[in-house]
Amino acid sequence: MKILFVEKNLRGDKLGVCCLSAVLKRAGHEVDLVQDDLDDADAYLSAHPVDVVMFSVMSDEADWVSKRNRELKAKHRFRSAVGGPHPTFVPSWGTEDDAIDYVVQGPGESVVRSIVDGTAERLTRGSLLGQFEYVPPDRSIIYKYDALGKARMKRFIACRYCLFSCTHCFNNAFKRLYPDQKVSFSYRPEPELLMRELIEVRERYGLELAFFNDDDFAGDPEWLTRFCQLLLDSGTGIKICASVRATSLTEERVAMVARAGVVIVNFAEESADPVTQQLLRRGPVTNEVVFRAVRWCEDAGIMVRLQNMIGLPVADPLGDALTTFEFNKKCRPTDSSATIYQPLPGTELWAYCIKNGFMDADTKPAGFFDRTVLRIKNAEEINRFGKYWYWAVKEQWPLEILQERLRVPISDEQMAAMTQALWADRRKNLYGM
Ligand code: SF4
Repeated sequence: MKILFVEKNLRGDKLGVCCLSAVLKRAGHEVDLVQDDLDDADAYLSAHPVDVVMFSVMSDEADWVSKRNRELKAKHRFRSAVGGPHPTFVPSWGTEDDAIDYVVQGPGESVVRSIVDGTAERLTRGSLLGQFEYVPPDRSIIYKYDALGKARMKRFIACRYCLFSCTHCFNNAFKRLYPDQKVSFSYRPEPELLMRELIEVRERYGLELAFFNDDDFAGDPEWLTRFCQLLLDSGTGIKICASVRATSLTEERVAMVARAGVVIVNFAEESADPVTQQLLRRGPVTNEVVFRAVRWCEDAGIMVRLQNMIGLPVADPLGDALTTFEFNKKCRPTDSSATIYQPLPGTELWAYCIKNGFMDADTKPAGFFDRTVLRIKNAEEINRFGKYWYWAVKEQWPLEILQERLRVPISDEQMAAMTQALWADRRKNLYGM
């Protein structure tokens, strides 16, 4: 059978579809992927008829997927399947659309063959990794695009799912979907398998910086020690950028990962206000813990990117954001980012926002670098703050200067240009690109 993944525009290495491709190819199917904005899926399907079209759907792309699937189905004969975060947490979005043939909740590896064979239920739920054999992702379907295949930095996953339950995160909702598979909530492939994947990617496509933006790279000390040793033994010189929960680090662990090649660590601070931290259920990830972990990284020569969230559903969202800003200035990370909180359907905080009048039940989330979709005080200042944040922390803007700038409207074009500028600066300073 021939299977085509249709993406609007890949924003990075989307490894979920690569994992599905690997499973399908092992079963003898042909798999390809098109980015509709670049290649036009319509033209592709005219030239290469396929049996099944698959979409991996983020919440901010759900409307586009519904529309594009309908347009393509009006012209071509195929069965369509949707999976990914949006159908997982809002399955009715897919099941109520008669142009969609299959809706997958959760990881699709265990069910994707039955979809292609036509034996799956219309709404089907995949098992968690750990319940079946891990197959390394088939990156060829996305690395045929040079912007990804020739990139110095490529993405990897060391850890699937997460043991914690922050209210804004899908992991909590995920646990409710899988009460019978709790043992798999912190699945990691064997370090040897992951190391082999890194080496293969390096040999085939080139790799200087491996970016692990999974939930907590350092969450399993024994796994971490084995993986660091393998990195050292490999002599490849591959550098690592890893997302880590600050509570998972000790001074010794920071020194160990630095020796093994970790050069950048991402920490999520989210909010520095203790009351907001409780709303987000950040548990032991306190300001003191984050501050201490940043100092350890600094001492070990590791660059730190601190990730924050503004526009939260609290009584004074601007005050909350300013508190977090001041904490970031004090912390002096190499890089600081602030995304605009987006209510992800199915999460606890999404339900809280509806219940407390911050939005309607049918409000759709936007992108993390877009605008707030909530009814909150100072919404426009929050949107502008998202654009100024990077520079304001980096240049240690005094509070009064920042507040003055936040009061002045800026156009959409200026906002877009500011986003481009900060990414260009970040690529150069943090990732050396
Ligand atoms: S620690 Fe991170 S991945 Fe885990 S639940 Fe919280 S936000 Fe989600």
